[in-house]
Amino acid sequence: MIPIAKPQLGEEEKRAVLEVLESGMLAQGTRVAAFEKAFAYFIGVKHAIATSNGTTALHIALLALGIGPSDEVITSPFSFIATANAIKMVGATPIFVDVNHNTFNIDYHQIEPAITPKTKAILPVHLYGQSAEMDVISAIARKHNLSIIEDACQAHGAECDGKKVGSFGTGCFSFYPTKNMTTGEGGMITTNDDHIAALARKLITHGSEKKYYHDFIGYNYRMTDIAAAIGIEQLKKLPFFNEQRRKNALYLTKRLRLIQGLVVPPINPKHVFHQYTIRVTTEFGKTRDELVQYLTDKGIGTAIFYPLPIHKQKAYSEYNQMTFPHTEKIALEVLSLPVHPFITEKDMDYIITTIEKYQEM
Ligand SMILES: *Cc1c(COP(=O)(O)O)cnc(C)c1O
Repeated sequence: MIPIAKPQLGEEEKRAVLEVLESGMLAQGTRVAAFEKAFAYFIGVKHAIATSNGTTALHIALLALGIGPSDEVITSPFSFIATANAIKMVGATPIFVDVNHNTFNIDYHQIEPAITPKTKAILPVHLYGQSAEMDVISAIARKHNLSIIEDACQAHGAECDGKKVGSFGTGCFSFYPTKNMTTGEGGMITTNDDHIAALARKLITHGSEKKYYHDFIGYNYRMTDIAAAIGIEQLKKLPFFNEQRRKNALYLTKRLRLIQGLVVPPINPKHVFHQYTIRVTTEFGKTRDELVQYLTDKGIGTAIFYPLPIHKQKAYSEYNQMTFPHTEKIALEVLSLPVHPFITEKDMDYIITTIEKYQEM
């Protein structure tokens, strides 16, 4: 089976974890601080705060920005559920706007019409590793005095306008094993704002700055030093991983774009291809789901991110009657193919020819 994702953990990660185990400092030791410093430098921000996962990073980012009940946050319905859940977790209301069917990211034209006196923030998702149009979104946020929270959980190293994502507002990253870099479970908040950084740091450690003195009720959302030790090594390899993903995406695109009915991702050198996602349209001649079944039978791992938009989820029943046409259409068309750094050209050739053959059948 050609896997859809394959975390790469080498001798460096093993040695780093062993060092932590031997030191006995499994939590709140030196590795978390070192990882935060390296990640902040990589993104180009003043502060990075490590958390237990991407969901807790989003939760804390919203809390640190003071977003709560009776506030509205504008976001995309075409994302992993955690994006909207974090908004719900602080008691605020997600306001969904449709996505652009070519970029899969929030359609910035629809943001301004969705703004009300209750709007506090815009929460774009850099889906599949491609930055949302942050120049435009930043201008809208400035004009209406809104915060920006970036769900960059799929976009470590992606850029817009010469800046890394996670540096336009409060950035939130995930280090789950399928992401472009991993720590097992883990997350990171990035910001240039001293106040947000200090508050986020307190929020993840029970509202305390000085041990056993608590100014408010917070959480334990800290990262372990074992995870951070892995993260430090993964971050060093991230530029290479991303370069390989881009190379693989280009290789796939050059041939897949010739197949009738397939829409391939745009060639964008700032895309980090967390996923390589095509759209299977009716002109392909077979349905997306038939293609998935055929590829599975031929030993090719694929995935659908995401088969059911957030506003159609049972957990979001109050939104079920709403329609976001582009989101609903692409949920039926998207198909992610293996693009991870260690897929071979031979495997990609096999994927391409298998798709070609199936169309002719
Ligand atoms: C992975 C992911 C998250 C959540 O990250 P976890 O570390 O799994 O909690 C949030 N948003 C998006 C878009 C993701 O892909």
